[in-house]
Amino acid sequence: MVSMILFFAFSLSLSACYFEPSADDQDTSGDGPRDYFTDQGFGNPLGYIQQPSAEFYNGVTYIAFQGPHEDAYVCAYDHEEERWTGPVKAGLSLMGKTPDPVDNDQVDNHGRPALVVDGGGYIHLVFGGHGGYGSLGKNLYGRPGKGKQTHVVSKRPEDITEWEVLDNISPFGTYDQIVKMDNGDIYLFYRHGSHKSDWVYQLSRDNGRTFEPEVPVLDCKMLADSNTHTAWYAQFTKGPGNTIMGIYVYHACAGIGHSTLRENVYYMQMNCADGTWENASGEKLTVPVTKEHADLKTRILDSGGVLCNPGICRYDQQGNPHILYRYNKKQYWYTRWLDGQWKTPVKVTQSSISGQFGDMIVQSPDEIDVLISGNIDGGGGEVCWWNSRNAGLTWTRGSCIMSSQTVRYCVSTLNRNYHPDAMFGLFEKDPASPHLYRKIFMWGAGGFVKRVD
Ligand code: ZN
Repeated sequence: MVSMILFFAFSLSLSACYFEPSADDQDTSGDGPRDYFTDQGFGNPLGYIQQPSAEFYNGVTYIAFQGPHEDAYVCAYDHEEERWTGPVKAGLSLMGKTPDPVDNDQVDNHGRPALVVDGGGYIHLVFGGHGGYGSLGKNLYGRPGKGKQTHVVSKRPEDITEWEVLDNISPFGTYDQIVKMDNGDIYLFYRHGSHKSDWVYQLSRDNGRTFEPEVPVLDCKMLADSNTHTAWYAQFTKGPGNTIMGIYVYHACAGIGHSTLRENVYYMQMNCADGTWENASGEKLTVPVTKEHADLKTRILDSGGVLCNPGICRYDQQGNPHILYRYNKKQYWYTRWLDGQWKTPVKVTQSSISGQFGDMIVQSPDEIDVLISGNIDGGGGEVCWWNSRNAGLTWTRGSCIMSSQTVRYCVSTLNRNYHPDAMFGLFEKDPASPHLYRKIFMWGAGGFVKRVD
């Protein structure tokens, strides 16, 4: 991994003027080349559990983000022309408020867009859901929530200027994750409602024009105590060949005495040829996987009641999964499947940072690079690489991309099919800002993908 050291001191100067963009407004803030490509991100504009935000396709990197009123916006970067276009409003979120709140707690943020470019070059976004309002109908796989899971597509291939809604997925979704297979099949994974809901996928074999009905894969049901539902937080990514990998954590969702605890770490993989699921050792699973089945067959860590959150799963050239997960809020831990077993988890981050999100590049079975954005206790944040060159046994803090004593940062997951010059997006959160509009940056091996006009 060639990661440049781009350590910059933030001036904290803010653009004086923020405006309400209309559908085809261009980003006109600032003059001359700048590191960010838009300052119209809103709230927490890029997801990590809503993923991916961006994809490189035919010479262009397309990126979607949550903009004003929580609507879905898109920008595009033409690598040959070295030119950004957008932002363009691609779709409306029912969860947006007018005027835009200035308190982030009033922004839902669950409906941040996931993006995919289909085999014909059309760009799709799925966004806007936090379980779906009850008025949208009966939720067969869980409980309703807020918003409406919405699918929009560009009217023309490789053109972000105009969009239309495709009413062909369930409205009851949140945490949208899109997996595109080598044959062009598109799998849309999401939680089918609020906490007390199954995780499902819908498959499209025709470039997103139609989707097959929901298939539940993680089961939410009431336990024998008549108070607790089995709930999950999951992250699905493309695996080797024609497979999909899923990591997840468990949430005991209690009616009385509800807590936000998520615990344990689980892994399973899907064979897309026949839709069957198995654990890492190849034992077939019964889906939707129940809590009992998961504990027996797919659990790779019993956290003993300590908070865990899913990070991400990637794989090496030998097809073995490598897993990154958050443990006890302040740490990222790593494990991998090797020689028929999950290796003893290793702590990646040694510094005292929290609120971390990240991704992982498995360069080879021995060389792994982890990208983490973290908050420094009592202050700002940083975006740094953490590297292992001995198959994940030990980790060192590598180069830092951004760091500040006051401003915090959040990275997206890696762009799908990323171009080395545009690998992932990140946004900044400046506590001194009087509003929730965020600058969003794209980073690659050459540093920030600058915007000139
Ligand atoms: Zn709950």
